[in-house]
Amino acid sequence: MSESLLHHTADLANAFLESVENRFVGARATAAELRATLDIAFPEQREAAEVVLDDLAGRADRAIVASTGPRFFGFVIGGALPAAIAADWMTVAWDQNAGLFVLSPLAAVIEEVTARWVLESTGLPAGCSVGFVTGAQMANFAALAAARHAVLRKAGWNVEEQGLIGAPPIRILAGGEAHVTIYTALRMLGLGTGIVETADADEQGRMRPEALRALLAGRSGPTIVCAQAGNVNTGAFDPLREIAAVTREHDGWLHVDGAFGLWAKASPEHAHLAGGIELADSWATDAHKWLNVPQDSGIVIVRDSAAHRAAMTADASYLQKADGAERDEVDWVPDFSRRARGFAVYAALRSLGREGLADLVARCCRHARRMAELLASDRRVEVLNEIVLNQALIRFHAPGRDADELTRAVIARIQQEGTCWLGGTQWQGKTAMRVSVSNWRTTDEDVDRSVEAILRCLDAEASSAA
Ligand SMILES: *Cc1c(COP(=O)(O)O)cnc(C)c1O
Repeated sequence: MSESLLHHTADLANAFLESVENRFVGARATAAELRATLDIAFPEQREAAEVVLDDLAGRADRAIVASTGPRFFGFVIGGALPAAIAADWMTVAWDQNAGLFVLSPLAAVIEEVTARWVLESTGLPAGCSVGFVTGAQMANFAALAAARHAVLRKAGWNVEEQGLIGAPPIRILAGGEAHVTIYTALRMLGLGTGIVETADADEQGRMRPEALRALLAGRSGPTIVCAQAGNVNTGAFDPLREIAAVTREHDGWLHVDGAFGLWAKASPEHAHLAGGIELADSWATDAHKWLNVPQDSGIVIVRDSAAHRAAMTADASYLQKADGAERDEVDWVPDFSRRARGFAVYAALRSLGREGLADLVARCCRHARRMAELLASDRRVEVLNEIVLNQALIRFHAPGRDADELTRAVIARIQQEGTCWLGGTQWQGKTAMRVSVSNWRTTDEDVDRSVEAILRCLDAEASSAA
């Protein structure tokens, strides 16, 4: 490979990263425009790598969403810390297959160390097993697979061998505002979405523990409870200590989806929100959201490592496994071959340290609160949630306008205006704009610029005909 190709690529990457502070945040190109330039016939002949790369980078520009930039507040999307980007580049250059110790002692040991740091920085029990997956979706899947194994094993059933046909029934309980990926995981696990008994949630989206208690009263048998640390709309936390106590009384397995909320534990100011989270049996979280690792990085954590391994492991005579002496990553994740995801997580955690991580979490929360407060100083703006973390829900009002329709229209204007990017949601029957601050780059000035842009869009929309 020519040395100049990667130098040139680094220049392109640097130019892009420098541009994210000020570029139009959304994408401007339409799909038709992209197809017109990128959808070429499959080439008959080889093309030089430089040409391929330049063409891709050159034509992609108008279609990039600057979600890694400081004024992207849509969904819950983290940026990428410099150390994590650099480690991710090395992940690709080294191109390790992180399935087995023998294929990459480096990847295996780095995962081991990173796993310990994840537990330490979030206050989870030291003996838990940890797997590095693509995101919280797969973390929920892997954790619930371990749960399925454990609750059925207790009922004398080996689900890995015997499957679910004829298995003792499992009860699955979740809060009324559980994330969609819990349901996707249950679907993929053969348990089905219809199996879920929902415990009512309160006005912030928190599971009501008394509702869970009522559902579980007088019942026993294989039981899995899915709780949540950080609601995707409000950022609210289920009352985990009470939920853990109720679940334990019924000998159930408690799983907590803490895709971003688990990291509240890393900030002394916010850790109380997730109080009791350490009492659960399994956890799902993301590194590519609040930890600001590049996309494709989630983490599954399980207290009963034997259940975790039993649900995930794979073996064959040609694999040359370490037989427990060292870490074979294939034992902890649904993947077989995969990239060495641990490197970027390691780099992020090490470059932040305990202090930097606490600061990242606290700073994002402060920005979210300030953004909501500045917006709410305009009397046409309503804040729908208690801002406890990094999420805010905003709704707009104007004379003669339906608030749902107005809010949708303002969101559309904001996305077209390009200073910042925010998306919408339905919260308890009302249309709202979601604010999620999850990026290490965001500054007070970014919040100010965004508030001005949002209010400009509100002015323009309110004075236009509906
Ligand atoms: C984002 C999110 C997920 C899914 O995570 P992915 O990384 O997108 O797979 C699950 N639960 C919650 C609460 C989330 O915010």
